[in-house]
Amino acid sequence: MTRPIVSRAEVPTARRIVVKVGSSSISGANAGQIRPLVDALAEARARGSEVILVSSGAIATGMPYLKLDARPSDLATQQAAAAVGQNLLIYRYQESLDRYDIVAAQVLLTAGDLENSTPRSNAQRAMERLLGLRILPIVNENDTVATHEIRFGDNDRLAALVSQLVRADLLLLLSDVDALYTRPPDQPGARRITHVPFTDDLAGVEFGDIGAAGVGTGGAGTKVAAAKLAAASGTPVLLAATGDVSAALGGADLGTWFEAVAPAD
Ligand code: GLU
Repeated sequence: MTRPIVSRAEVPTARRIVVKVGSSSISGANAGQIRPLVDALAEARARGSEVILVSSGAIATGMPYLKLDARPSDLATQQAAAAVGQNLLIYRYQESLDRYDIVAAQVLLTAGDLENSTPRSNAQRAMERLLGLRILPIVNENDTVATHEIRFGDNDRLAALVSQLVRADLLLLLSDVDALYTRPPDQPGARRITHVPFTDDLAGVEFGDIGAAGVGTGGAGTKVAAAKLAAASGTPVLLAATGDVSAALGGADLGTWFEAVAPAD
């Protein structure tokens, strides 16, 4: 690995970036956010960075095709919606990427795959080849065989594991909220946390509940756990709003920065 980047200002020089976007940011009324997201990823690639997108949204994208108005509560129907929606989600990304002549690859993984040496090295080899071919891997959990991210985190943990797999030098976690706050941001006295040193356990930070009306399953708690996991394996993490993706990849001073553990020499 090259020297990991250590600050927001260095983000435009990152060699390899994992960007994670959640269901509510790119489905339903927000499906139009795919276009500016793709613009920002294309800009980062034009600067010379390799980009991997971890995108949720299969269940949310599939819901209208199963004539569902709300997220199903049973796991089997969630899996069915994901199987339908994944196809459409990749189609929407590819349609937008066509504007830049970028080819997308669908990569479906499970945490278990990444914890076992044979599937892990298979996935690693495929990812390296895709990046070498200048293809944009779009990763989601393989919801037919695994349901961890459906239940707990909207791919936050998967994004950290993918960052570890590809030795990313940045994980950009996009969220409905523009940063981590000392308490849920709608509560009085909530302050933005701009920098989280590696040794900071964030004791005293209060995480709110995930909005009941939402289509995703992630919240501040799952984002912090994922950020800590990535940081412990040497990848710094920037948590920022989905609408700020272009500015975040451009090195703007926003969001919350989680410092990575110092590399062993
Ligand atoms: N893999 C699921 C999806 O893409 C994950 C997340 C969720 O919505 O809970 O929909």
